[in-house]
Amino acid sequence: MVEGNRKNALVCGAGGFIGSHLVRRLKSEGCWVRGVDLKFPDFAETDADDFIIGDLRDQQVCDRAVDRSFGEVYQLAADMGGAGYIFTGEHDADIMHNSATINLNVLDRCYKRNIKRVFYSSSACMYPAYNQEDPDNPNCAEDSAYPAAPDSEYGWEKLFSERLYIAYNRNHAMRNRVARYHNIFGPQGTWQGGKEKAPAAICRKVAMARDNGEIEIWGDGNQTRSFLYIDECVEGTLRLTRSSFEGPVNIGSDEQVTINRLVDMVCDIAGKTLHKNHVPGPEGVRGRNSDNRLTAQELGWAPSQPLVRGLEATYEWIERQVHKNEGTHVM
Ligand code: NAD
Repeated sequence: MVEGNRKNALVCGAGGFIGSHLVRRLKSEGCWVRGVDLKFPDFAETDADDFIIGDLRDQQVCDRAVDRSFGEVYQLAADMGGAGYIFTGEHDADIMHNSATINLNVLDRCYKRNIKRVFYSSSACMYPAYNQEDPDNPNCAEDSAYPAAPDSEYGWEKLFSERLYIAYNRNHAMRNRVARYHNIFGPQGTWQGGKEKAPAAICRKVAMARDNGEIEIWGDGNQTRSFLYIDECVEGTLRLTRSSFEGPVNIGSDEQVTINRLVDMVCDIAGKTLHKNHVPGPEGVRGRNSDNRLTAQELGWAPSQPLVRGLEATYEWIERQVHKNEGTHVM
């Protein structure tokens, strides 16, 4: 479908971190883009041609958003946050109700509009906790998902919604795409307030700390993760959507680091020496890394940028936000 002569796309969650970057990329390719979200992007003007402020739990908002047959639909809207939001248990009912309702509504509207292909952003949080107890050897191969045992209700909702999209493929001849994102980070992501993820939280803490001061880390810091830079996430998202593979497939980095190592990398970038103060806090699983074998096989692509490059760009952006907030430079 075209708007004028251009391909059109709908991005649900276009006011969020990944959604706003995705809109920018689609615009750079000449697409006509409609965004939908509860809010505009937090850190820059949206690049979307049309932006609906609305709640996708509301069916009437979904009707307005999906009022035509879009060439591409990206469903990223979710009730979402870092470990401080997902793993405390305090938000479980909201996370499950809100995100499941959004997915049920958006997908069914797309089906009724005869849209064949919706991209859905699942998460590595749906992998079973029992395969992620060894920090040096986690198993996050796509076919390791069952027997299911995610360690959070956020992960369970993702698993349910994955199955929903795939069930519509099976029963309604749709061709939905399911990606499992692994810790996406970069500039213009949430960096404070409780919903930020580890790279942003660490960049903020380092930017705010005095040289030779200290930094608080949740747990012993030996838990492992991998982190994918936003531009590569957007690239993988478009490649999967436009491929003939339905997924689920990991979109993540396989450069695994401990949280302690991540802190050291950010300290090096900042030119600071900080003492690590390990404090109790929500940690999630002991080890997680993206297994990129299926991604390489089916998409002929793998992310290539080393973690440190993305951290440099992210630290520089967060340091600027910290300075703006303080109205003065942190020494
Ligand atoms: P984000 O929180 O920045 O973006 C999600 C957006 O959805 C927000 O702008 C929010 O306002 C919007 N939203 C929430 N409820 C809504 C509603 N009822 N109606 C309309 N909009 C609503 O998160 P993100 O990091 O950009 O993540 C995008 C997607 O990718 C999410 O589905 C998330 O679960 C998934 N994901 C992200 C990561 C990551 O590391 N960022 C990892 C795994 C999966």
